[in-house]
Amino acid sequence: MAHSDWEAVIGLEIHVQLATSSKIFSAASAGFGERPNTSVDPVTLGMPGVLPVLNREVVELAMRLGLALGCTIDQSSRFARKHYFYPDLPKGYQISQFAAPICQGGEVRCVVDGEVLSFRLNRIHLEEDAGKNVHDQRNDRSLVDFNRAGVPLVEIVSEPDLRSAAHAVAYMKAVHQVVVALGVSDGNMERGNFRCDANVSVRRRGAKAYGTRTEVKNVNSFRFIGRAVTYEIDRQIGLIEAGGEVTQETRGWDDEAGITRSQRSKEEAYDYRYFPDPDLLPVVIDDAWLASVRATLPELPLDRWRRFQDELGLSAYDADVLTQSVERANYFEQVAKGAGDAKLASNWVTGELMAQLNRDGVALGDSPVAADALTELLGLVTAGTISAKMAKTCFQAMYHKGVSAKDWVAANGGQITDPAVIAEHVDTVIAANPGQVVQYLGGKEKLLGFFVGQVMKATRGKANPGQVNTVVRERLAAQKGDS
Ligand code: ADP
Ligand code: MG
Repeated sequence: MAHSDWEAVIGLEIHVQLATSSKIFSAASAGFGERPNTSVDPVTLGMPGVLPVLNREVVELAMRLGLALGCTIDQSSRFARKHYFYPDLPKGYQISQFAAPICQGGEVRCVVDGEVLSFRLNRIHLEEDAGKNVHDQRNDRSLVDFNRAGVPLVEIVSEPDLRSAAHAVAYMKAVHQVVVALGVSDGNMERGNFRCDANVSVRRRGAKAYGTRTEVKNVNSFRFIGRAVTYEIDRQIGLIEAGGEVTQETRGWDDEAGITRSQRSKEEAYDYRYFPDPDLLPVVIDDAWLASVRATLPELPLDRWRRFQDELGLSAYDADVLTQSVERANYFEQVAKGAGDAKLASNWVTGELMAQLNRDGVALGDSPVAADALTELLGLVTAGTISAKMAKTCFQAMYHKGVSAKDWVAANGGQITDPAVIAEHVDTVIAANPGQVVQYLGGKEKLLGFFVGQVMKATRGKANPGQVNTVVRERLAAQKGDS
């Protein structure tokens, strides 16, 4: 099939669990991993006569996200009831937002192939999560755990602006990075705190109208979304080119089989009978509240990525690695400022430090070498007190033994830069290796490294390597003149 004749159209719906300690409409815990049906209360269970009370923190987190993404915040949004029957839904309806969501419009910016692209958002709305059915196959029964029911979510709905699997992956990563950077969610995908549904359709290139879409449910990893969207695009093109038609339906991604499977067709789609929830007042946000939330917004990861390149002269790649988490970017910036050399700081953080932490499976927050300790080490490098090579040895001592860079230098001595001392070592090495001198003078210039290595060995790595190199060359050249 000629893919160039076709264009994919993709819109993503991402559910993000908000980082609150209690639920959206009650004081029950929103924590994870508690015993089934212990984080529940009458509101969670939908007991008759109980009333929901909106958690203020939930509204604040949604505002924070909306403001950061350039959405219009509705200062009087409303909750609605979305009706459907399922055992994990105790009330028989989910409280969500429908006609008046808290955030409208806005955009998600992300980098695709080095280029910054912007994808429009349709809306971000608040809703409660449902419980969870647990299928106990051994005893041939299903159990329901309501711990998750009433946990606060935002649903982030994009416009159908994405045009490829690469767009979908980049968009999902960008949203994840933003919600985590803002502290809106922990973004933990294994726990289901960040879940994505992908709407996919295809149309002939140049066509104005959208094709019929399918919705692929629960593509909950960056790898899955790439694979699922690619598969679905190929499937739809294949289907149409073979004379068939795409059916509007819900599909599921089976990663093991590498395919999507039909789950529910449009004919079986629910009529949710949405209507405004009479138990909840409109969510009124006054200007002062809006302004106070706006005032606490941090720099977004993408802006930081740009600034690291424009102001600090880092490569796009290094800036990307460093802005993967707020913690990492903060660590780097502290070191870069303190050491007065951003490139050096970047090399050390993305190189030596991250390699060591990855080897040991240690998080940056638990690094035995804190930012101020690394700053001190790099200060000694830029001052010429120790060479880059010595700094690596020193770093190992700092990391494994907890010594400071200054103490290490006091105990081991700094770099030897005195020309007279270096010359003495070079002369000793040359005198001790007459055979190699003859070979070198006979044209085996590779032996230069041997002489430099011997001097470094004799000085236990402390001689300034650049100086040693120069002096070895000079002294050997002088030997040539002599012979
Ligand atoms: P619903 O709420 O019924 O799922 P929406 O119109 O709210 O429908 O759209 C849900 C998502 O589907 C949005 O992210 C939107 O961008 C996307 N979408 C809508 N039409 C298409 C289409 N033809 N192809 C791909 N995605 C689409
Ligand atoms: Mg949908």
